[in-house]
Amino acid sequence: MTCPSNASKWTGQYMGNGFSYPMNSYLEFANLSDIKAPAQCVTNVCGWYYWSNGANNYESTGGNPLGGPSVKKWHNEGTNAVHVDGHAKWYRYQNIWRGNATWQNDPEWGGGSAANSIYWTRDAT
Ligand SMILES: [Zn+2]
Repeated sequence: MTCPSNASKWTGQYMGNGFSYPMNSYLEFANLSDIKAPAQCVTNVCGWYYWSNGANNYESTGGNPLGGPSVKKWHNEGTNAVHVDGHAKWYRYQNIWRGNATWQNDPEWGGGSAANSIYWTRDAT
């Protein structure tokens, strides 16, 4: 699949960093029971690279050196994220890209409270 807003279109073969929906690297080999807050824990986002943890990029082997954060603000300055429980939600870029480290204290998300926060780690509650 390719996000319609990703300029790097699916070619039917290995695309390197052009992959559209990076997976949360913290969930590799995780069991569902390992996830403490399935409704808050992100599995995939709109962006590029194969893996992301919200703060770093991961690439398997080689690929196009597109660069930049793996989470992209292609959708109204934000991104769409799928969570472990299966629901999808739009997030403002600065609230999901931990590289900016601002989401934890953003009032829009309850100052980082469990009810309103997004998690990349499997053991966050
Ligand atoms: Zn998208």
